[in-house]
Amino acid sequence: MKSKAYLIGGGIGTLAAAAFLIRDGGFAGEDICLLEAASSLGGSLDGSGNPERGYSLRGGRMFTFDNYECTWDLFKSIPSIHRPSKSVFEETVDFNERHKSNSQARLVDAQRAKVPVASMGFSMQDRVELLELAGTSEVELADSRITDWLSPEFFHTEFWAMWATTFAFQPWHSAVEFKRYLHRFMMEFPRIETLGGVRRTVYNQYDSMVLPLQRWLEERGVRFINGCTVTDIDYKFEGAKFTVTAIDCHFHERFEHIEVQGDDIVILQNGSMTDASSVGSIQSAPTKLGKADSRAWALWEKLAAVNPDFGNPSAFNSSIAESSWESFTVTLKNPEFIERMVDFSGNEPGTGGLVTFTDSNWLMSIVIPFQPYFANQPADVQVFWGYALFPDRVGNYVAKPMADCNGEEILTELCGHLRFDRTTTTGANCIPCYMPYITSMFMPRVKTDRPLPVPDSSKNLAFVSQFVEIPDDVVFTVEYSVRAAQMAVYKLLGIEKTVPPILRHDKSLQTQLDVLVKAMR
Ligand SMILES: Cc1cc2nc3c(=O)[nH]c(=O)nc-3n(C[C@H](O)[C@H](O)[C@H](O)COP(=O)(O)OP(=O)(O)OC[C@H]3O[C@@H](n4cnc5c(N)ncnc54)[C@H](O)[C@@H]3O)c2cc1C
Repeated sequence: MKSKAYLIGGGIGTLAAAAFLIRDGGFAGEDICLLEAASSLGGSLDGSGNPERGYSLRGGRMFTFDNYECTWDLFKSIPSIHRPSKSVFEETVDFNERHKSNSQARLVDAQRAKVPVASMGFSMQDRVELLELAGTSEVELADSRITDWLSPEFFHTEFWAMWATTFAFQPWHSAVEFKRYLHRFMMEFPRIETLGGVRRTVYNQYDSMVLPLQRWLEERGVRFINGCTVTDIDYKFEGAKFTVTAIDCHFHERFEHIEVQGDDIVILQNGSMTDASSVGSIQSAPTKLGKADSRAWALWEKLAAVNPDFGNPSAFNSSIAESSWESFTVTLKNPEFIERMVDFSGNEPGTGGLVTFTDSNWLMSIVIPFQPYFANQPADVQVFWGYALFPDRVGNYVAKPMADCNGEEILTELCGHLRFDRTTTTGANCIPCYMPYITSMFMPRVKTDRPLPVPDSSKNLAFVSQFVEIPDDVVFTVEYSVRAAQMAVYKLLGIEKTVPPILRHDKSLQTQLDVLVKAMR
């Protein structure tokens, strides 16, 4: 009997796993079944709406061509929907040739002045501490926080303002993850003020990545079951090997029990950064959800309780105050706001990237992407995205924490920072999205808190998510989930091909230090 693959969760990680099973593992699409709790696929890479209801997405993504080795390896095999003769990778390369990132207004201060950013603002002490952190081993860094290594002054540098808002780091996050970013994105140091290395997809990532991949999988017969929440996994130990024997799920008001046979494999998304996220509207703030509303943590916790090889979710999900922030999507039917932004920033849509208001209590940033941002977006509608790292603080122009604000109030705060009349957003729809676990994967942790993509003690269960251990790679990226998928599939199936290695941009410590010192001039 042919073996089957059950994929639990429908984020980019498992979609990639399905593609690797077919492309590299010789699986037939019809032998792959994906169970997803939400009504659509893509997980955190969501994007939906129309001009009437307003568009909404939890996040817009930055990529590079210097990294993302597994992501582009995958998307070289997936045809674009809008240019079928090109792969998604080729389409993305062409797009970025035409629309280069060159931010002219990366940081904006309380006077609405563009902050000069070429110098990064480091003192000698900051340099020494940063180099020390970059050179310390992960074993030694263990579960320490960034603040354990860098002095308070460091967090007032222009470098930190740009780094923290580009990658969503907080001072209390994991020193190991921070160090990994320093190494993995070393080449971004000299160009972080212009975001010159950032690459983007043609549309939002749901339209430009999820839909083409979903279609490629559908054409090959993969079965997607949406609205299906997996509640438990039955198992036995074969010797010391954990072996999944059945999957229990809740589907359309019914409980289902799926038997997992001898050679079948199961790939689970343990944990999700957008778990328990909630959207509000132009008139209402998002409802605050938490652990009780989670789908992914509960399942991972059950498994971790029976096998120490399966990690420790509590390292990541125990402090919403340290892992939450809020984003918002604005739909405009009046070009004035974007025109004013182009005048002010000096960037046409799609060329500027993040604009961060450094003195904003919420630490608010916005991005004006290339238009149209959604495939179904009419020419007279514009969409942009923003986020804030401190939604629990009272605003500068709205006397409320962002988390209690509706879309209208968020626009008031934004126009206040920009000194734009509120009429520039007349008729705009702003949809906020609160994400309690958005930076949960940056929480301090030790190595064993995350399972390997295929733990040594597992026979047929793999983990694919932001919460697995992959040496040297960095979380909060699409790449991490795709790399986990490729590693998991190759290991489970014994595929002899090599997973694309992480390209080294930090060839030797000396080179790293040279680059750092040069960038810190
Ligand atoms: C605001 C924001 C900005 C970002 N910016 C960037 C960026 O600039 N660059 C970049 O590379 N990456 C960025 N990312 C990160 C990137 O989007 C994620 O790392 C990636 O999408 C995670 O994919 P995943 O498949 O691992 O998990 P997810 O997308 O979280 O998918 C998990 C899926 O599993 C489902 N699920 C969970 N539990 C169950 C269950 N019990 N039963 C059934 N289904 C279940 C969930 O519903 C979900 O669909 C950003 C993310 C966000 C949210």
